[in-house]
Amino acid sequence: MQALAVFPSKKQIDILNVPEPRPAGATDVLLRVREVGLCGTDREIASFEYGDPPAGADHLILGHESLAEVVEVGRRVRSLKAGDLVVAMVRRPCPHARCRACRSGRPDFCETGDYTERGIKGANGFLTNYVVENDAYLVKVPSVLADVAVLVEPLTVVTKAVEQAQAIFRRLPYDPGPQRGLVLGAGPIGLLGAMIFAANHIETYVYSRDSEESAPAALVRSLGARYVSSASRPIENLSEDPGNFDVILEAAGFAPLMLAAAGALKPNGVLALTGVPPDGAAAELNAGGTLRNLVLKNNVVFGTVNAGRGDYLAAIQFLEQFMTLFPQSTRALVTHRMSLADVPQMLMQKRGIKNVVQMGRTA
Ligand code: BGC
Repeated sequence: MQALAVFPSKKQIDILNVPEPRPAGATDVLLRVREVGLCGTDREIASFEYGDPPAGADHLILGHESLAEVVEVGRRVRSLKAGDLVVAMVRRPCPHARCRACRSGRPDFCETGDYTERGIKGANGFLTNYVVENDAYLVKVPSVLADVAVLVEPLTVVTKAVEQAQAIFRRLPYDPGPQRGLVLGAGPIGLLGAMIFAANHIETYVYSRDSEESAPAALVRSLGARYVSSASRPIENLSEDPGNFDVILEAAGFAPLMLAAAGALKPNGVLALTGVPPDGAAAELNAGGTLRNLVLKNNVVFGTVNAGRGDYLAAIQFLEQFMTLFPQSTRALVTHRMSLADVPQMLMQKRGIKNVVQMGRTA
């Protein structure tokens, strides 16, 4: 079977022939990979800025946004059967007894940093025809979502961010009522975030560098949300009309914007950061003013990465809701479907919103 891998030491990307895996353990599941979504993390790995092969290997099979079909299950697997559609979780726990997060089944909060992530850090990913996975890391997806289920993994990242923001709002001594929300960035994560906001009756704004005429801007408007282009509004003026925001979801990974975002919060507002800026990215900051405002406005700024099983289950429910509320816009997030042979070139040039590899497809 084929697999697409990066060789960091040779700075090379290749399609390889690899042996088909066989399930060995009682809780193993053999999967036929159907689709794999590509994201900014994959592009960073493909430009050798991020990502690590499994211990002792010279290459890493790429791909972490999976959708697969169950082929065969081990004798102790009760919750899955051949033909079921599943999405695999990305992160695997670190081995340390002292890590309370990993030992509690939440490696997304790993305390040691020694976790692995399939297709990203120390474990092979899903850009191949068949994989074997332990059933503990598989989440079943209703077959009616087959068309869009490849969006589940990126949606889990946003779901975790929103769930934590809600937990922070629960500290308030009053019901925050209808809220005004801002999403920074109009890539897949930002647009999925705008969908969660819109579905939750939050008055939603999306701010990004794409023009007002771009496809992401039209998609934002199709949700009943407002789109603001950075061409018409510099970052410093982010909070002008309509004023400040109760909740801001950052999904741009642009350091100056991430810092400026704190200044657009209302009193008691919450800013969730999900973008990963390059190490060393510089930005000017009025440190005194920013910190002073955070304190005097009771603001919370937090970072969030990856997701737990509960976030996968919640993301699947959100996706079902999106397919009722705005099915066309949800489908429109996937702008390109391609074969494995197209991937090396695709990783070099970003096009459209979400690019998806169909494993069964011939070039
Ligand atoms: C993935 C997450 C992962 C993160 C950091 C993201 O692209 O969606 O699952 O934890 O990268 O490696």
